[in-house]
Amino acid sequence: VKNRGKNGYAFYDGALSVPLQHRADMERLLRHALENMEFELHYQPQISLGSPRIDGLEALIRWNSPVLGRVAPDQFIRIAEETQLIIPIGEWVLRTACQFIRSLHENGTDRPIISVNVSVVQLIGQRYVERVLDILRETGLEPRYLELEITESMVIESLDLIADKLSRLREHGVNIALDDFGRGFSSLSHLMRLPITTLKIDKSFIEQIPESAEDQPLTGLIIRLAQGIGLKVIAEGVETYSQLDYLKKYDCDCIQGYLFSKPLPATLARDWVRTASL
Ligand code: C2E
Ligand code: CA
Ligand code: CA
Ligand code: CA
Repeated sequence: VKNRGKNGYAFYDGALSVPLQHRADMERLLRHALENMEFELHYQPQISLGSPRIDGLEALIRWNSPVLGRVAPDQFIRIAEETQLIIPIGEWVLRTACQFIRSLHENGTDRPIISVNVSVVQLIGQRYVERVLDILRETGLEPRYLELEITESMVIESLDLIADKLSRLREHGVNIALDDFGRGFSSLSHLMRLPITTLKIDKSFIEQIPESAEDQPLTGLIIRLAQGIGLKVIAEGVETYSQLDYLKKYDCDCIQGYLFSKPLPATLARDWVRTASL
């Protein structure tokens, strides 16, 4: 039996992610977290390789629970989705990220852009497009400085609805990134129906880059293919100089990974952006 959301779309096959009691506890703790502002955003720089500079920051949620300690997003996002709490949490993330990037722009620069992860539960929820546009107006951030990251796994179930909503946001100037590309099986014909502006190559692909670049043209071919249809390409999870060399050789647009920086709290991210734009 599939677990169907309010709108009748199936998100998950089979069992819930965790036993019911644990799930109920987590739901209670997540509600509490939202009311008591236990969440925080960290920001990871996305470095442009053409002219070295910070092109973007990806907002990544952190939860400091007084009960559980630090909880990684992989441990609570899915439960937040199953309980629909991802909708208010996602709105908090979007508002906080837009405010933060707006505050950086006020100090003289119009870079970087802000990338925000979006769950399918948010996307197919009521009035998603209007909510995003409201938050942009509220925070005074121009849509072209916002990028929404979606994953390919999420678009399979309700492609038409998602394509329609993303197209409306795209018409307003919002950028759309396809996250984790290469992690699952992608149908390129499906993906072409989405108004994607950026392709993020998954870490699992970057890890396969060997010491000698000649041995592995696949990641390079993906970069060329994506750029050939006008997409900006970001490599995720870049950890070594040999990966960097390879990505430079294949003219990858941007890299993101521990080699340059881990996700940083707002104050450190602000310092990073200021220093890097001197
Ligand atoms: P993601 O969107 O693919 O984010 C990239 C993850 O890789 C982040 O983990 C980041 O800290 C990590 N990472 C970055 N560079 C490197 C590297 O060089 N090496 C390695 N090993 N890891 C690296 P994080 O912050 O734990 O987030 C995990 C996932 O949780 C994210 O994967 C995203 O799917 C989800 N997530 C995070 N924040 C949000 C949010 O605000 N909303 C939603 N819906 N999902 C979020
Ligand atoms: Ca992401
Ligand atoms: Ca990713
Ligand atoms: Ca992901």
